[in-house]
Amino acid sequence: MDLFAEMQARGHEQIDFFYEPEFGIKGVVAIHNTALGPALGGCRMWNYQSEKDAVIDVLRLSRGMTYKAAVSGLDLGGGKAVIIGDPKTDKSEALWRAFGRFVQGMGGRYITAEDVGTSVEDIAIVRRETRYVVGIAQDQGGGGDPSRVTARGVFAGLRAAVEARLGRKDLEGLKVAIQGVGHVGMYLARLLHRNGARLFVSDIDSSRVSEAIEKYAAQAVGLDEIYGLDVDVFAPCALGAVVNDDTIDRFRCTVIAGGANNVLYNPRHGEELVKRNILYAPDYVVNAGGVINVYQELNGYNEEEALRKADAIYHTLREIFDLSKKENIAPYQASDRLAEARIRRAKDGRKDRLHNLYLPGR
Ligand code: NAD
Repeated sequence: MDLFAEMQARGHEQIDFFYEPEFGIKGVVAIHNTALGPALGGCRMWNYQSEKDAVIDVLRLSRGMTYKAAVSGLDLGGGKAVIIGDPKTDKSEALWRAFGRFVQGMGGRYITAEDVGTSVEDIAIVRRETRYVVGIAQDQGGGGDPSRVTARGVFAGLRAAVEARLGRKDLEGLKVAIQGVGHVGMYLARLLHRNGARLFVSDIDSSRVSEAIEKYAAQAVGLDEIYGLDVDVFAPCALGAVVNDDTIDRFRCTVIAGGANNVLYNPRHGEELVKRNILYAPDYVVNAGGVINVYQELNGYNEEEALRKADAIYHTLREIFDLSKKENIAPYQASDRLAEARIRRAKDGRKDRLHNLYLPGR
């Protein structure tokens, strides 16, 4: 593959290849953009079919991190690492130490964290070799599980979308379908229940559904049934790509806002939702609480501050919806534009007025 052409197409600054000779483990780190700060993004371990697949994935994911950090007002750039290997059989202390030394060698241009296929325990080993790592346990001075902060951000984004589409600030009696009541979904259920919303939940794990019924008076719905429910909001909190050719005509909700990553199977589904008059709150804006939480670790973790920043997702979303209306573009395009504008301002050295207004403590 033509690496420079791939970098050019997506605007990447740097790709680093990593090889651990004793175990033959291969990895790639991509730095997309550092105009706003060091490139931060998790390390994914996956059994990629080919080296090319791994490179394409790391380029795609690192670019996504640039946009997420920028639109969230964080002083961070976008990066990502992938390790080619089976997370079930190929992990070892030596591997994580070698990866840690490699990250340390990058001198802080890239900061790593947990991701698909890596665990808190793996990251704890990486941390023995580098200080450029976040997402560490609370008893070691980190922020621990980010799900509570993520759910708080999803709640803020959902409120902004409901206000923009339904013209109401209160959530009393609002019907919300939550797909997946795992870490994020369950915290979200709690916040919505406290604010008077009526909940419908689905999960492949029936114990999670039972918990939501018991604690938050939720109603159980089928795994497939959830797409066609007559509700105000559909909140995907399990899987990506749930807005696709098979589901798009089934939605009867007016708002889609949830914690899952990559909700749209394809960007064109964002435009399809506009045509169907469904307001889609872009996933990477709504679920930025996770990166907001680890960002806080860089200056000494403070949960209150992380929650305040997650609450500010409300304002970011309002701005995105306003721009989308004004420019007659889909919300996901409006959020990309806001992110790009912020990066451009940083490059030009102009004052970043937008996010200084909204983010507390900055
Ligand atoms: P989780 O694994 O704790 O929860 C996911 C839940 O979805 C589980 O209870 C699982 O049983 C359920 N599920 C799986 N397949 C399902 C299906 N087909 N239908 C219904 N339910 C199904 O994960 P999480 O940490 O809560 O994350 C949820 C989503 O949010 C993921 O897409 C994740 O990438 C994204 N996300 C999470 C965070 C975070 O802070 N945890 C941050 C950003 C994005």
